[in-house]
Amino acid sequence: RRPALNRYSWLQPVRPNDGIGVSDSETATGYSSAATPSQHPVTVISATDLSKRYGDVLALDRVDLTVDAGETFGFLGPNGAGKSTFIDILLGFVAPSDGTLSVFGHDCRDDGVAVRERVGVLPEGYAPFDGLSGRQHVDYAIRSKGVDENPADVLSRVGLRDDAARPATDYSKGMRQRLALAMALVGEPDLLVLDEPTTGLDPNGAAEMRTILREEADRGATIFFSSHVLEQVEAVCDRVGILQNGRLIATDTIAGLRDSIGGGTKLVIAPDRVDDGTLDAVERVDGVETAVERDGTIEATCTNDAKMDALVELHDAGVEVVNFRTEEASLEDMFVEFTGGERA
Ligand code: ADP
Repeated sequence: RRPALNRYSWLQPVRPNDGIGVSDSETATGYSSAATPSQHPVTVISATDLSKRYGDVLALDRVDLTVDAGETFGFLGPNGAGKSTFIDILLGFVAPSDGTLSVFGHDCRDDGVAVRERVGVLPEGYAPFDGLSGRQHVDYAIRSKGVDENPADVLSRVGLRDDAARPATDYSKGMRQRLALAMALVGEPDLLVLDEPTTGLDPNGAAEMRTILREEADRGATIFFSSHVLEQVEAVCDRVGILQNGRLIATDTIAGLRDSIGGGTKLVIAPDRVDDGTLDAVERVDGVETAVERDGTIEATCTNDAKMDALVELHDAGVEVVNFRTEEASLEDMFVEFTGGERA
C-alpha cells in the first residue's frame, strides 16, 4: 500500500543557486538552523486541519500540530492510527486531501525538495539496495546530500564499522535499522524524522539509538519520531502526541498528560479475589478513571484523592485487600486512558 517509490530516491544532490537552498532572508528569520538562538520558538513542523482520505478510510482527520525547533517530539499511536501517513505527507510522498503541512515554512506538497534537503529520514522497514555494502549506502547518502563526511565515522557511530564492507542485504533487521539511521544522520540535518526507529533492535540497540537521539537533540536538531513502543517515547521525548484513528487526541508533555488525568496515580491492589463485582466496586469510586484486572491484581488509574476511597469501597464490598501499592502512571497507563482501552 506504500508508494512504490524507494524512499531514498528523493536524495538528489542539491544544485547550488537553484533557489531552494537556504536563502539569506531565511537565515535572517532564524530558519537556517534549528540551533539558532531566538527569543521565540521557531516552528519546524506545522500541520493545519490536515486530513487524508484513502477511499473509505480517514487516515488523518483534521490534525493540528506544531513542533518547535529543538524539540524531541514523539508521535504515538497503535498500528493504523495514521502515523506513517503523516510522515508520508511531510516528505511529499503523499498529498493531503485537505489542510496543509509545512516544514521550515515550506509547504510539503509544493516544496518537497526544499523540505527534504534539511531532513534526515529513517523510513519504516528500510530495504537496502541489492549488491551495495553498508559503506556504499552511506557513501550514497553523503553524495546525495552533497556533504563531506567520512562514511566510516558515520558507520562507527551506529555500531556498524566492522560490517561496513558486507552487502547490506545480508544485514539482520537490527543492522538494517542501524544503517538507515546512519543514512538519516548524514549531513547534520536540522530535522530528523524517524518512523518506528527501534523496530528490530535488541534492548542494547534501542539504548544506543536513544543515546544518538540525545546527541542529535543536543546539537540542536529537531526530532520527530513515531513509535508504538511507549518506553522509547517516554525516555527521550519532550512532548508527545497521541494519535488514534487519524485524530490527534492529546498533545502535551508527559507531565502535562499526567496532570490532565488528575495526577495520574496508578493503584495496584492485591485482593483476596477478583470478580466482576470487585472491579465494579473500584470503578464506582469518584476519581477512579479505569480499573482492570491483571494476574489477580486490580490496576486502577485514579486521582491521588481517590486511593483511600477505592480501598474503603472494596472493604465495604466484602473484599479483603491483601496488599496494595501506588505508582506514578506510566505513559502506557495514560495511553490506555486516553484511547479508552486500546494498547499501543
Ligand atoms: P500507522 O503508521 O499509525 O500504523 P498508517 O498511516 O500506516 O498508520 O495507516 C493509517 C490508515 O490508513 C490505515 O487504516 C491504513 O490501512 C490506511 N492507509 C495507509 N496508506 C494507505 C494506502 N496507500 N491506501 C489505502 N489505505 C491506506
